[in-house]
Amino acid sequence: MLLHIGIDDTDSPNGMCTTYIGAVLYRELSKFGEPIDLPRLIRLNPNIPYKTRGNGAVALTFDILEEYVDEAKELVIEKVRELAEINDENTNPGIAFLEGDIPEVLRRFSIKALREHVTIKEAEEISKKIKAEIIKFKLGRGIIGALAAIGYPLDKYTYELLAYRKPENRKKERNVDRESVFKMDERFYPFTYDNVDPYKRTVLITPHGRDPVLLGIRGIDRGKVLQAFEELIIKEEVTLVQLYKTNQSTDDHLVWKKVKDIRLYDNVIVRGKVASKYWEKGRHVFFELEDETGKIRVAAFEPTKKFRNYVRKLIPGDEVIVAGGVKEHEGVLTINLEKLYPVKLVPKVEYRKPKCPKCGGTMKSKGDYLKCKRCGYKMPKILIPIKLPRDLKPKIYEVPPDARKHLARPLVLFGSEEKFVR
Ligand code: ATP
Repeated sequence: MLLHIGIDDTDSPNGMCTTYIGAVLYRELSKFGEPIDLPRLIRLNPNIPYKTRGNGAVALTFDILEEYVDEAKELVIEKVRELAEINDENTNPGIAFLEGDIPEVLRRFSIKALREHVTIKEAEEISKKIKAEIIKFKLGRGIIGALAAIGYPLDKYTYELLAYRKPENRKKERNVDRESVFKMDERFYPFTYDNVDPYKRTVLITPHGRDPVLLGIRGIDRGKVLQAFEELIIKEEVTLVQLYKTNQSTDDHLVWKKVKDIRLYDNVIVRGKVASKYWEKGRHVFFELEDETGKIRVAAFEPTKKFRNYVRKLIPGDEVIVAGGVKEHEGVLTINLEKLYPVKLVPKVEYRKPKCPKCGGTMKSKGDYLKCKRCGYKMPKILIPIKLPRDLKPKIYEVPPDARKHLARPLVLFGSEEKFVR
């Protein structure tokens, strides 16, 4: 019979990663039955406040003989109890088991957990309805992600290979040869992507926390992801390697909305007009967007670095499509930009004083007439409109790789503009 297993909320900023528990279990459960496909790493709503890092949950599906099912479940519970960072006050692990086919209501619940906010109560109700077994540790908030990971449709997917390190190394800097990462990127980009930041010349495949992940290689071709890993020079022991199928880089989280329908924690695409000149505060750049239903604040935050320049080039009246997560910033609902598409730009016109028609000298404004600074010639104040070049193109701009959400599709990948076409 098919046994689906979902796990979430096992880590803290000080350690662990749900994908590690998933990788350990994928191997150990294989003695009870046949894995159906790869394990799944499902990213859920990136805007919800309880996440540790990327709001990732894990699901595994095995074809298991009925007589082994209880033993398999015991093993999952044991491993979560053993490996989860249970003592951290914000870690509230949850496990879900579902036997047989995946009901449509669970699919819908997953999509809700991807795009909106859901409660533990909703997760409990769903589990009753579909007869899924749930195991809660402490608050057990992890059952939300555990159930959502099982039910996620994963029609579009990419891959991530994760390599894990020895526990005694977890406080040390990750030891992966930098040059080998750049070489790997040269050979495999864009089949594997976000390996390096080419402008800052930094390595992106190694995270920075105390978790067990040594590195992660993201890609659209599973063969090439594996090959890319083989080419790296790694100078510390790798204890486990696992390839995951994932909804990362799919843009699945984004939903078209009108301004009036936008809610906290949504992930939206909105078309509208720039309603204000940009302003800056604390290195963040803001502007106001307006459609026929209302106005909303849009932000390019400091970590998006040079991307902020595109926002600075917008002027009132420009028609744009913006994509991003909705959070409260200083008490105001704000779209946190992931992508910006200036669709129609209004002409940028500057009014300049003419030269003196008599001597070619510079004219000075004197109330409603102009006076030549050189010969004193006076004339009515008629300014000349000058059309200035707009230094923006009608194309999609994206934030740099290190500021990108896991779910956001990098522009280099095929179909990255699909969500922007209605
Ligand atoms: P990592 O990426 O390292 O696995 P994380 O960022 O996934 O860490 P978690 O520790 O898993 O963080 O915490 C996320 C918590 O939020 C989980 O308990 C999960 O069940 C819950 N959650 C996920 N999606 C939603 C949602 N849409 N609404 C409410 N809660 C959610």
